[in-house]
Amino acid sequence: MILFSLYNIKKLNKLNMDIASTIPYGDSTRHNCDNCGAELEVHVVKQKSHNEKEEYNCPECNKLFYARVSQPIQKIIVIKKRTDGKTDLSVD
Ligand SMILES: [Zn+2]
Repeated sequence: MILFSLYNIKKLNKLNMDIASTIPYGDSTRHNCDNCGAELEVHVVKQKSHNEKEEYNCPECNKLFYARVSQPIQKIIVIKKRTDGKTDLSVD
């Protein structure tokens, strides 16, 4: 009886993992823009084995970055303003 229960729990865990791998999940990463020095927090939605290359721009200087995500970039927050002293949106 106990063995039988353990077997079912294992099966359930396996099932949960299979479902989890198909559910999109929110994720965020922080990085510094190497063009203007701003610190960015990028909010994305990922989905295991369904991620595509998505473009996004630094809100401070417009530099193009890429992320592996399953849906278009949700939100980009500027944690720290640019540090290069410029105000233009052109990338050198
Ligand atoms: Zn930038």
